[in-house]
Amino acid sequence: MRSHLLNDTTAEHYRRSVTEGIERVAAKLATTSRPFTGVTVDALAPRIDEIDLDKPLLDTAAVLDELEDVYLRDAVYFHHPRYLAHLNCPVVIPAVLGEAILSAVNSSLDTWDQSAGGTLIERKLIDWTTARIGLGENADGVFTSGGTQSNLQALLLAREEAKTDDFGRLRVFASEVSHFSVKKSAKLLGLSQDAVVSIPVGHDKRMQTVALAHELERCEQDGLVPMAVVATAGTTDFGSIDPLPEIAELCSQYGVWMHVDAAYGCGLLASVKYRGRIDGIERADSVTVDYHKSFFQPVSSSAVLVKDAATLRHATYHAEYLNPRRMVQERIPNQVDKSLQTTRRFDALKLWMTLRVMGADGIGQLFDEVCDLAVEGWQLLAADPRFDVVVEPTLSTLVFRYIPAAVTDPAEIDRANLYARKALFASGDAVVAGTKVGGRHYLKFTLLNPETTVEDMSVVLDLIAGHAEQYLGESLDRAS
Ligand SMILES: *Cc1c(COP(=O)(O)O)cnc(C)c1O
Repeated sequence: MRSHLLNDTTAEHYRRSVTEGIERVAAKLATTSRPFTGVTVDALAPRIDEIDLDKPLLDTAAVLDELEDVYLRDAVYFHHPRYLAHLNCPVVIPAVLGEAILSAVNSSLDTWDQSAGGTLIERKLIDWTTARIGLGENADGVFTSGGTQSNLQALLLAREEAKTDDFGRLRVFASEVSHFSVKKSAKLLGLSQDAVVSIPVGHDKRMQTVALAHELERCEQDGLVPMAVVATAGTTDFGSIDPLPEIAELCSQYGVWMHVDAAYGCGLLASVKYRGRIDGIERADSVTVDYHKSFFQPVSSSAVLVKDAATLRHATYHAEYLNPRRMVQERIPNQVDKSLQTTRRFDALKLWMTLRVMGADGIGQLFDEVCDLAVEGWQLLAADPRFDVVVEPTLSTLVFRYIPAAVTDPAEIDRANLYARKALFASGDAVVAGTKVGGRHYLKFTLLNPETTVEDMSVVLDLIAGHAEQYLGESLDRAS
C-alpha cells in the first residue's frame, strides 16, 4: 500500500495516475454535448449505494471506470455554453494547473512553517487585490473558503469594533436582496433575531439610500447601535450594485462599519471597460471577493479584505504548538493569525498562476464579455413578447419569466415557469436558475461563460417557451 503514498519513490506512479484522470476529464470535455444528462436522484442513488467502500478495486483504471458511471457521465458541466444557472464560472486552465500543484504539494497556509513561499504568495495576492480595490496602505486580508465565510469574518470584525458589546442592541443593515449569509452570520455571531434590518430596493434592485438613512436614524433614536451596513456589489439574483458612494457617506456620518459584499461584482476589479461601476468600494472597511464567482477560478477561491489590518486581530488566537505569541515579535508570517480557519488550502496559487499566465486584463476581458453578452440577452428578451424581463443588467444576470398572452392567472403563469425550468433540467439541454420577484416565480440566466452566444440564449428561450406551452396545453386538457 505504500506505493500509493506520494513521495520520492512514487513519482512515476503519481505521473501516470494523475495523467489517467486528466485523460478522462479531457475526453469528457471534448464530447460533452449538453450541460447535463438529466439523470434523476432515483436513477443515480442506487448506483452509488451499491458500492461497498470496504471492498476497494485496488486499480486506478477500474476506479476511473466506476467514477465515469457514478459521477463523470452525469455531472453538471459548467463549461458548457448552455449552463446558464448559478454563479458558477467555467475555469481557466492556469488555475486548474495551480489546483493540481497545490494539492500535490499540499501546503497548509496556517503557518509559515507549513508553507513558506505559499504564505508570501498569498500575501502578495491580498496586496494586489486591496490595491485594485483602493483600500490604502494599511489594508490586509486573507483567503477564505468562500463568500459566506468572508461575510462572516467581516461581520465578526464589525461586531468587535462596534460601540457596544451588548450584542442584543446591534443592528446590521442590508438590502432586501442581499445574500442570505448576512443573516446566517448574524445568527452565528450571537446577534438578536431581528438584528438584520432589511432595506428596500428600487426597481433597479439597488438599495434605496433614503430608506437606509431613515433606518440608521431610527436605530439610534431607539437606543440601538448600528453595527454594519452591508452593501452588495453584484446581488446574487440581479447583479445589481448598491450605490456605494452614497452608502459610504452614510456610514461615515453614522460611524458605522461599511462592508461591501462583492462576491460576484469583484470581477469588475479586473475589468477593462466597467471598473467604474464599483467606484466607492475603496471606502469600505471590509470587502468580500469570490474569485470562484467571477475570476474564472475553481472552487474554492475567495478572500476577505480589510481597510485597517489591525482589525484582523479580532480573529487572532495563539496556540503554543502552532503560532505562539513570540512569533509575532520574530516577524514570522503566520496567516492563521488572520483567519477563521486553521489548516487551510493554498487556493491563492490558482489566482497566482492565472495572473502570471493571463494577466489581470485577460481575466477582466472575459468578465467584460459576459457583461456585454447580458446586454444582448436583455435586448433579446425585451423584444420578445413571450417574456417579461425584470431589470437591465449591470453585471451578467438576467431575470425573466414566460408570460403567455392567453393566460391571465399569475399562479398559472408561476406553475408554467416552474414546470419549464424543471423540464429543461430533466432534458439536460440547458440549465437555468429561478428566483422569486414580487412573490412570483421567475427564471434566471447567470451568464459567466464567454463561450455562450446570443444564439444559445435564443435557443434556450425557445426551449423554455416550448416546455411552458406544453404545460399550459396539458393544464387545459386537465381542466376540460
Ligand atoms: C455567492 C454569494 C455569496 C456566498 O459566497 P459562497 O462562495 O457561495 O460562500 C455571498 N454573497 C453574494 C452576493 C453571493 O453572490
